[in-house]
Amino acid sequence: MGAKIIDGKAIADKIRIELQEELKNLKADGVEPGIATLLVGDDFGAKMYRKAVERFCGEMGFAYREETHPADTSEEEVIKIVGSLNDDRKVSGILPLRPFPAHVADSAVINSINVNKDVDCFHPFNMGKVALGEPSFPPATPAACVELMERYMLGEGIDPKDGFEGAEICVVGHSNIVGKPVSFLVLNRNATITTSHVFTSMKGNLEKHTTAADYLIVAAGVPNLINSDQVKEGAVVIDVGINRVVVCPECGTLNRGKKEPCRECSADLSDAENKTVGDVNFDDVKEKAAAITPVPGGVGSVTNMMLAKNTLRAARLMADM
Ligand code: NAP
Repeated sequence: MGAKIIDGKAIADKIRIELQEELKNLKADGVEPGIATLLVGDDFGAKMYRKAVERFCGEMGFAYREETHPADTSEEEVIKIVGSLNDDRKVSGILPLRPFPAHVADSAVINSINVNKDVDCFHPFNMGKVALGEPSFPPATPAACVELMERYMLGEGIDPKDGFEGAEICVVGHSNIVGKPVSFLVLNRNATITTSHVFTSMKGNLEKHTTAADYLIVAAGVPNLINSDQVKEGAVVIDVGINRVVVCPECGTLNRGKKEPCRECSADLSDAENKTVGDVNFDDVKEKAAAITPVPGGVGSVTNMMLAKNTLRAARLMADM
């Protein structure tokens, strides 16, 4: 029959409407939520993300403050800038855009952010609260995974409390940004959780865990890591991966770049098409799963809305509301 496609864009649009209402009420009470980005150096990905945050603030009606500084800014200077963002009443949330230059330690910057402005949950204090089951700011991407699962359950007439309790959930990936925190978030909902990673794969055990999962959350950054053989019939699959790939025009293999010939059939890739894919072989897995998120249009769409939710919470905290 084919899986139900969990439409992240449509879900994000619904959440946006809910949040706009909350924003209107906050503004009526004189509270103006705002986000600041902190970029040191000129990393391409970080600059792209900065632009995306600025655009997103405009769309949401949030104030935006940009702090962009040259790569030779000292760590001490960067921490002073964080201090000025901590003190700025127009800044509810601070987003450090990594990577920083080598002489600026991530931990030094993150530890200097006011924990009540740490809207993407980078600070160890807030991550500790996630582990303790009392998050102030659930990290945006992991929270988007849970939101998508919850809304899928509601759509199927399942009470999310029942849906999560005792469910077999397998997470692929154990990064500090996605894999670990999403494991905690679903453990906090009383799911039975298996967190797998590259060493699970190296021992040949990945499939054993993924095929036991009612819900499979994949955050590995490896295109087509998960095929239908690795998925239980009727599972719900949440694909977090975002991979820019080059599709071989001869055999369809996904390659990382255009400079080398196709890794499967050695075809020339110089005119091949670029594509964004997840970690899950969507066309294959959708024939076996009960539901699946697409890439693009799945987790990524909802992530921004989770960030917006945290920003509103931070603005309320600052206003003692
Ligand atoms: P990451 O820091 O590179 O972590 C990847 C994780 O996957 C690691 O724990 C790694 O294990 C594991 N892994 C790699 N290859 C594996 C394999 N063959 N089998 C099993 N596990 C494997 O990446 P990340 O920041 O967590 O991001 C993961 C993906 O999500 C990326 O594609 C990223 O672009 C995407 N992402 C999307 C959003 C969104 O909003 N949609 C947000 C953030 C990230 P080891 O640590 O043991 O090597």
